[in-house]
Amino acid sequence: MAIEVKNVMEMFVDQNLNSILDEIPGVCRCEQCVADIKAIVLNSMKPRYVSSSRGEIISKLSAFGQDNKVELLYVVKDAVDKVKSNPHHAAR
Ligand SMILES: [Zn+2]
Repeated sequence: MAIEVKNVMEMFVDQNLNSILDEIPGVCRCEQCVADIKAIVLNSMKPRYVSSSRGEIISKLSAFGQDNKVELLYVVKDAVDKVKSNPHHAAR
């Protein structure tokens, strides 16, 4: 079985970012803003690398998600505010 090195924090953010953004009114969902939000979130959350087989990574990810869901919510809200006050998307 192949062993992989993965940042479960990034997988966790990927898994949950869109559904969290769905809950926050008025978020710009253009590619640029979503990428900016994701970068700020990943910089704010501590990376957590694991070296495991794929199946083990998935089970670690779900335990990890339970522990970090509330923090992720706060960090995403904060990132949304930052991007909103200084958006990088082209003016329309
Ligand atoms: Zn935008």
